[in-house]
Amino acid sequence: MKEIIEKLTKRPDSVTYEELVDILRDPAIDEDLFKAADEVRKKYLGDEVFLRGIIEFSNVCRRNCLYCGLRAQNKKLSRYRMTPSEIVERAKLIAQKGIKTVVLQSGEDPYYMPDAIAEIIQKIKGFDVAVTLSLGEWPESYYRVWKDAGADRYLMRHETASPALYAKLHPGSSFEERESHLLTLKRLGYEIGAGCMVGLPGQGPEELALDLVFMREIDTDMAGIGPFIPHPDTPLAKEKKGSLRMSLKMIALTRLLMPTCNIPATTAMGTLHPRGRELALKCGANVIMPNMTPSPYRAKYQLYPGKICIFESDDTICASCTVRLIKSVGRIPSKSKGFRKRGIENELVHTQHPCQ
Ligand code: SAH
Ligand code: SF4
Repeated sequence: MKEIIEKLTKRPDSVTYEELVDILRDPAIDEDLFKAADEVRKKYLGDEVFLRGIIEFSNVCRRNCLYCGLRAQNKKLSRYRMTPSEIVERAKLIAQKGIKTVVLQSGEDPYYMPDAIAEIIQKIKGFDVAVTLSLGEWPESYYRVWKDAGADRYLMRHETASPALYAKLHPGSSFEERESHLLTLKRLGYEIGAGCMVGLPGQGPEELALDLVFMREIDTDMAGIGPFIPHPDTPLAKEKKGSLRMSLKMIALTRLLMPTCNIPATTAMGTLHPRGRELALKCGANVIMPNMTPSPYRAKYQLYPGKICIFESDDTICASCTVRLIKSVGRIPSKSKGFRKRGIENELVHTQHPCQ
């Protein structure tokens, strides 16, 4: 056990798929793994936690991902679209609170595509913040327009790197397509954010190890990892939710495999467990994304049920609440834009044979 932790810490590139499956299967390793991930996070990234204010500006979606409450076929959900000026106003508020990244997230909603989004980005860039998009899959030409308008990052979780499971969960699309979107975004100069759910039906250690290997292979700049939480108005309503321990393990392993990757303590972690985000920060995470979606829209962005921060009377409170959360675990809320740290990976002992 000691040896594998040492390998993960010193030569993460050399850890094999089979070894990752074994680690994911073995609960006896968990505490050592969490500790090692926390140490690696501290060594490479220090104690700062990046804040990213997220605006969920539309819950309209043309797709039908089996797990998601926003899926087009969910007729029970009342849909909304924020206007461009409402979005920009909200971004201004985020900037005024000293949060240096604005994340724009939505269902796959053709309504704003691509010009309205470009104009929104241009205006938000005037507030001296980084802009992250999370809008789903669009033609390369759109990604270009948004990059030219000033967008910096794109979150597009790969969801699962098992092609068979991916196909089951995403009617009419394939893992190969998802991967090609991520590669396109990377080529265009975005920082990319892959990531997966943990505890999807049909997903065990073998599939989760594929996720880890995939994220290492594409060298994702960010990794969004959170438990699957079944939504009652989806085809997966009766399935079991993901476990806290396995989600923490995936976060810890991602940190060990990619020491400088930006990893959020996700809202789904906080929904699964009252201290889920704190625990994630102690197992390798270094980012938190306060929900800055204004009411009354916020409650309607129901990816999954029980989502935290829905019923706050003051819809700006998540900014101060997350700062408190960060301090409560002895960390420092960062005032920076929070790009991925570059050029410190070579402190790692590389996998090359010494004779080469
Ligand atoms: N439409 C965009 C962004 C919004 S969805 C996209 O799909 O990329 C944001 C994320 O919510 C998804 O990537 C998915 O991983 C997560 N999500 C959706 N339904 C979920 C559920 N039932 N449990 C946990 N996470 C879920
Ligand atoms: Fe739409 Fe994204 Fe939900 Fe899929 S995960 S249904 S693309 S909002």
